[in-house]
Amino acid sequence: MRFVSLVFSLIFSINIFAFELPEESRVPGGIALIPLIGLNTEAAPSAWYRSNRVMVLSSQDTVYAQQSPWLAVIGIPLSAKATDEQLMKANGQRFPFRIQDKAYKEQRLTVTNKRHVNPNKQDLERYKREKDEMVAAFKSWSSPAINGLDFVLPASGRFSSPFGLKRFFNDQPRNPHSGLDIAGGQGGDISAPSAGKVVAVGEYFFNGNTVILDHGFGLTTMYCHMSKIDVKIGDQLNTGDRIGAIGKTGRVTGPHLHWSVSLNNTRVDPLLFVKN
Ligand SMILES: [Zn+2]
Repeated sequence: MRFVSLVFSLIFSINIFAFELPEESRVPGGIALIPLIGLNTEAAPSAWYRSNRVMVLSSQDTVYAQQSPWLAVIGIPLSAKATDEQLMKANGQRFPFRIQDKAYKEQRLTVTNKRHVNPNKQDLERYKREKDEMVAAFKSWSSPAINGLDFVLPASGRFSSPFGLKRFFNDQPRNPHSGLDIAGGQGGDISAPSAGKVVAVGEYFFNGNTVILDHGFGLTTMYCHMSKIDVKIGDQLNTGDRIGAIGKTGRVTGPHLHWSVSLNNTRVDPLLFVKN
């Protein structure tokens, strides 16, 4: 037994599981990693969860290789309830799973632009158009060659607001915080956390100057409140390529990057993709 465990620790230390997966966290706003046991198809199965297509990867080079050739990587919405069974379907087969509750903290912010708290009719019409544009980008589906799902941070700076906070603007409840805020200072560099293609560029009511990258298989990242955008739709970026600069456009209390990560059109905790 001792020999076996020695061999195992050697194998783990040289890391034969070369494909980096995000950290699994089966909570609202987290990620479920589900081997598609019983589906030994040649082609990747087509998987769906809550009407959105789900990322399915080859499990080769991961710890799931023995269980199934295919692994689903699922984003769980912040609105999901632990009391409800979650259901993914792949090639028509059911893959139910359970999640646990997570207690996110509250955050109370004071915004001086009142229209950013109580938008007027025109603002709301504008927001609806912009939201449709963003959701279309979150639903991008492409199949690039990828060799891992690990991100480097897109900016340096203090994490000023974590993902998932229950938010109150001027004491009024609003949607929970769907990204991570990095207070890197006005004009600070924003760069691509991994290879991706620019699928949306906009100047939005709440999010200010915004860029969305498509990393493939339903994985997208969004950059908001920018002071400067240095990319255009269709640009193909490599890890570390500049996207633009940190700013305070849109609904903000100061300059910062709002960075969000989306899987199957579901915003999840960006830090699950960042290796320490
Ligand atoms: Zn934010």
